[in-house]
Amino acid sequence: MIDISIVIPLFNEEESLPELSAWIERVMQANKFSYEVIMIDDGSTDSSWNVVETLRNTNTNIKGIKFQRNYGKSAALNEGFKAAQGEVIITMDADMQDSPDEIPELRRMIVEEGYDMVSGWKKKRYDNTLTKNIPSKLFNAAARKSSGIKLHDFNCGLKSYRKKVIKSIEVYGEMHRYIPILAKWAGFRKIGEKVVEHRARKYGVTKFGWERFINGFLDLFSIMFVGKFGKRPMHFFGLWGSIVFFSGFIIWAYLFIAKFAFQKYNMTDRPLFYVGIISLVIGVQLFLAGFLGELIARNSSERNSYLIEEKQGL
Ligand code: UDP
Ligand code: MG
Repeated sequence: MIDISIVIPLFNEEESLPELSAWIERVMQANKFSYEVIMIDDGSTDSSWNVVETLRNTNTNIKGIKFQRNYGKSAALNEGFKAAQGEVIITMDADMQDSPDEIPELRRMIVEEGYDMVSGWKKKRYDNTLTKNIPSKLFNAAARKSSGIKLHDFNCGLKSYRKKVIKSIEVYGEMHRYIPILAKWAGFRKIGEKVVEHRARKYGVTKFGWERFINGFLDLFSIMFVGKFGKRPMHFFGLWGSIVFFSGFIIWAYLFIAKFAFQKYNMTDRPLFYVGIISLVIGVQLFLAGFLGELIARNSSERNSYLIEEKQGL
């Protein structure tokens, strides 16, 4: 049994890799951990993959996966999770902004304190205030509010997991920002946090630009929606469809009565008429979206797959 699997997604990080892997090796030897380092080259266009191969020549604990093109950090993590064999899995960025010295404590919290996952918290952060720190505060507030998980820093690259957690979740799109939420949806409740040392990027440049604002929020919506209504879309669309349709119906009935009982107004002269008719149309559309959602969910091979914790006598 391997004590620790370290999963490192990397995209054009050739300069950092030798230093990072030497540092990891130092920490692992000092603590006498058995370990593997899984480096996932996410379609780098520099010589990162050559570096991984060279590193493996001197240390066979280092393993590599090379994507044919750039699929993104989530895809790289997902592939790493599939391959990982350790009892505890640590994820960290390749750019040396995360310190390997944090690994022993992150592992201890899983093994001894019984956490399912522990997320790093870059309390003191060495990134650009305007483009990184402030937006990230907003993200985290939104993620905290919608998921109910009390973490300060959802998107920290440095995290540790019990093996079972990563084998239960699937990270895709840009969901790596919300792995704690995925873990919670999969039934893992004990999610902890540890303040970790953050360092300035020494080599290379950041791989995430302004698109991450939009993608980040869209992904938060999808993740909350899929988690809650993924297996029962009609409960969402049907409810709102009914409410909107019904309010349109009430408006229409009122206009109708006002016209014939009081003979005062023409229905189409009143702004309310348009509100009413649009509500009727949107209500029907929501309902139809719900039906389509149900049809799709019913045809999905996942429709009846659940994560089972334990069985007895079966
Ligand atoms: N990364 C990746 N694929 C991508 C973008 C980034 O594997 O498409 C890796 C990158 O090499 C690094 C980690 O994800 O190891 C975090 O990226 P970065 O340091 O650029 O993000 P930041 O720290 O600026 O938020
Ligand atoms: Mg970084």
